[in-house]
Amino acid sequence: MEKYLSQLNDAQLEPTIQIDGPMIVIAGAGSGKTRVLTYRIAYMMSKGIDAFNILSLTFTNKAAREMKERIATIVGASEAKNLWMGTFHSVFAKILRIEADRLGYPSNFTIYDTQDSDRLIASIIKEMNLDKDIYKYKQVRSRISSYKNSLITVRAYFQNPELKEADVMARRPRMGDIYKEYVERCFKAGAMDFDDLLLKTNELLTRFPEVLAKYQNRFKYILVDEYQDTNHSQYLIVRALSDKFQNICVVGDDAQSIYAFRGANINNILNFQKDYDDVKVFRLEQNYRSTKNIVNAANSIIDKNQTKLEKVVWTANDEGPKIKVNRSLTDGDEGRYVASTIFESKMQNQLKNGDFAILYRTNAQSRSIEDALRKRDIPYRIYGGLSFYQRKEIKDVLSYLRLVINPADEEALKRVINFPPRGIGQTTVDRLIVSANGYNRTIFEVMKNIDKADVKINSGTKAKLQDFVTLIESYQVLNQTADVFELAEHVTRTSGLIREFNKDGTPEGVTRMENIEELLNGMKDFVEGQKEIADATGSLAEFLEDVALATDLDNDKDDADRVSLMTIHLAKGLEFPYVYIVGLEEDLFPSAMSMNTRSELEEERRLFYVALTRAEKQAYLTYALSRYRWGKLVDSEPSRFIEEIDEQYLDIVTPTEERRFNPMLDADIFGDVIPEPNKIRYKPAKQPILKKGSAKKTPEKFQVTTPKKLKPVTDTASNGNTNLFDSKLVVGNIVKHIRFGTGEVLKIEGVGADTKAEINFQHGGVKKLLLRFAKLEVV
Ligand code: ATP
Ligand code: MG
Repeated sequence: MEKYLSQLNDAQLEPTIQIDGPMIVIAGAGSGKTRVLTYRIAYMMSKGIDAFNILSLTFTNKAAREMKERIATIVGASEAKNLWMGTFHSVFAKILRIEADRLGYPSNFTIYDTQDSDRLIASIIKEMNLDKDIYKYKQVRSRISSYKNSLITVRAYFQNPELKEADVMARRPRMGDIYKEYVERCFKAGAMDFDDLLLKTNELLTRFPEVLAKYQNRFKYILVDEYQDTNHSQYLIVRALSDKFQNICVVGDDAQSIYAFRGANINNILNFQKDYDDVKVFRLEQNYRSTKNIVNAANSIIDKNQTKLEKVVWTANDEGPKIKVNRSLTDGDEGRYVASTIFESKMQNQLKNGDFAILYRTNAQSRSIEDALRKRDIPYRIYGGLSFYQRKEIKDVLSYLRLVINPADEEALKRVINFPPRGIGQTTVDRLIVSANGYNRTIFEVMKNIDKADVKINSGTKAKLQDFVTLIESYQVLNQTADVFELAEHVTRTSGLIREFNKDGTPEGVTRMENIEELLNGMKDFVEGQKEIADATGSLAEFLEDVALATDLDNDKDDADRVSLMTIHLAKGLEFPYVYIVGLEEDLFPSAMSMNTRSELEEERRLFYVALTRAEKQAYLTYALSRYRWGKLVDSEPSRFIEEIDEQYLDIVTPTEERRFNPMLDADIFGDVIPEPNKIRYKPAKQPILKKGSAKKTPEKFQVTTPKKLKPVTDTASNGNTNLFDSKLVVGNIVKHIRFGTGEVLKIEGVGADTKAEINFQHGGVKKLLLRFAKLEVV
């Protein structure tokens, strides 16, 4: 037997060497599903199956890259090169380029990212004179996206009165018209959005039987990771392609289906056995990733879901430490807890920053964590949010390049026609759009023939438009001989972009310049890298496609040692030794928007399961009793998910136990007051603060134990009664604050360490301060 196969257990080996026919591996987190896929491909190749006949679809391009590297070490790099591996979007974008003309698209079509789509939709809403508060462009975009993912074309939309009715009910009767205009404008601009990449692939495979046959014959073996999160459109593509040979292997875990909000359909995995004949079903039960405590805790959570396939997950790994649960008073405190415990464990256990991940439900939560990490000088990297390629200056450069490839690209054109400023105003652009729409031409075509065009633009401006056309055409000429790097370098200099960003000398300008430099470095790398890939040409078109489809995880070129911060959705499939799940509060996680139905709540619970199962050695769960949300301090209750974990796996810690107060690091809370340590005291709560009524049910679980190892940081520990927040402050008092000056106490709420006062300050208005921090003087 091949040596690498000995790195699999018996249950993993079976699906690995089962090559023919439809099969599914359903198994819990960390049980080696992705490993099975990887080894299976290596095994197939060692049995003589041509890499060209294997298609492997992964959740991120990064995952594909890693799989490929692993396979290369087994079968050799030159063989592995020919594998088709990547996300649905990246693989089918390549196929669409080859077949584009059948659909009336140029093969150099542009891929619009969400920012481009948003801008186009916003501009259509404006052109149609619709109320932008009712037609919110992001909502409109997500509606269009869901049509596309359900394969509802514009024509299908207008044929189905129910769809229109639903939009009328949602007070958006013109939805269909926007959809139509959007689709037409994308088509005219030679652009596809992300959803088009799947929709058009489906169109290609259904309308052209010869194309279907071609790719069926090519991809005799198909493998899909994370199958539980495929949407309808993806499902149909896989079905069509695998229909002839039925050599289809999918792996997934129904308990980790977390993308329903984006159209993922859990039924795809549940119904797989009905879709194909003689499906072989494999199950893996042994988890190799996590400690016993983590695996068991995760099992106890997912047990609460009613809709699930019964699964066993166990591990032979060590028991490991219990899961730490930490309560903080504020989100600021929570951040400091995370930062200080990372700091301490790094010191104690000689760990790297890269061993830690901090996961949250929403991107907005990163801020307080970031602040705390910065104060501790802990380097971190945020995934998600605005990716590098969506930053303004980068999009500016890329827009010029997009125009070189595809001058019809409307969004790219609108972005740079007057940037850097060259005296072409918005009115001119609006007139060009109207004229282009009227004559069914692209804006660039109108500009090219501006002398003949019937458009009210003065001769001075016309000359400027012609100059712009000449500029882009000169880049097109250069593109025939130069590589991506050389071209981009030339463009940034001659378009005036560098001058523009250099002009102001502000820190932002400097950062922008650095980013452009980084982009150019990336291009250099790309040009070098492409030389090693079999069918790559290193062309500008290829570069732009890579960029358009890069997810933030994929751009992780920076190999510096950093803590990872990301949403749980992004963390799927990844693993880290130490994982913090922060913001475990009702209305935040589970999200307030996902508590209306049982199925929504169950998806949130699956999300929690995904989060917890990312951890290898130790997991931390944290929540705060109050948090800034939408600019307001709101009280919060611990998430029900904490309570749902079998308590034997938990270690409930109090803030006092876990974190000594450090005035130098912890200074900036609630009005920059530097708390003096001798005035601060964490009072161990007699009754832990939990969801109303829940403390009674399971009091012992959340009992706060008096810390033994560490003393509370207070000089009044011997005298439990004297502390600041038991102060005699009453409503109506006039108080003085070190920064906000004098103010009147409007309201006092909370008790003990949580006592807050609402104070109307002369300078600074109404503020809510935690009395344990705010150094107030009654005057
Ligand atoms: P997820 O559901 O989170 O995607 P998964 O089922 O895909 O998880 P893998 O990522 O393949 O699980 O494996 C989890 C970890 O366990 C990886 O670090 C992997 O290398 C390791 N692993 C898997 N199988 C074995 C094995 N037989 N021996 C040693 N380590 C293994
Ligand atoms: Mg996996």
